Amino acid sequence: MVDSRKDSIAHDHRCAKQANRTYMTNKTYNEDELIQLSALEHYSYCPRQCALIHIEQTFDENLYTLRGRAVHENVDLDSSHLKEGIRYERALPIWSERLRLVGKADMVEFHGKVPYPVEYKSGKHRAGHHENLQVCAQAMCLEEMLGVKVEKGAIFWHASRERKEVVFTEDMRNKVQEVAAAVHRMITERFIPPPVNDKRCRDCSLKESCLPDAVHNKTRHQHLAKKLFSVE
Ligand code: SF4
Repeated sequence: MVDSRKDSIAHDHRCAKQANRTYMTNKTYNEDELIQLSALEHYSYCPRQCALIHIEQTFDENLYTLRGRAVHENVDLDSSHLKEGIRYERALPIWSERLRLVGKADMVEFHGKVPYPVEYKSGKHRAGHHENLQVCAQAMCLEEMLGVKVEKGAIFWHASRERKEVVFTEDMRNKVQEVAAAVHRMITERFIPPPVNDKRCRDCSLKESCLPDAVHNKTRHQHLAKKLFSVE
């Protein structure tokens, strides 16, 4: 007997792959104009962090990035399976021509034809809006690609095994557009914003490259510069 659900998975998987190929061959702009979805979360956390990663290509590891990498190694393998009527797609390539975004969704659950993106995070559950923005951007990509409304998604925190549902409000969608436009502007102008130099820096993997304290503290900076060029 033919399993129609398996046929449907294979069909949808083929559609996603076909859509990806169509995008790759019919793209109307060059790839330099696209930004990674992850840039939105970086920008939301700290615009300078986003610039250092996406303009300067700076990437330093710390405990948090190593944990994040370990979690993503598990979800970065392109695979598809069906369980209790829900189709699970890992590492699904997604994009939006309108927002000029490209990336991969860690996991997309298909409840019937409706996609439900799930973003995996390495740490414990924390109340941050940066992740919400990223998963909302994924939803907006899926809406554009598949022509269906995506109302909800979720964030899964690996360490605490918690899952939080995110409802994509109009405000959140507007914020995604606003941040995507700001990141595009920043990258086009190759603008590196000044450091925020606040509690965000404590856990930031880039603090050794960024030197938030030294750059932020103008007096100290000027003093060091003066010393550097003074003849003893
Ligand atoms: S160290 Fe602070 S200012 Fe520098 S990138 Fe990280 S969060 Fe931003």
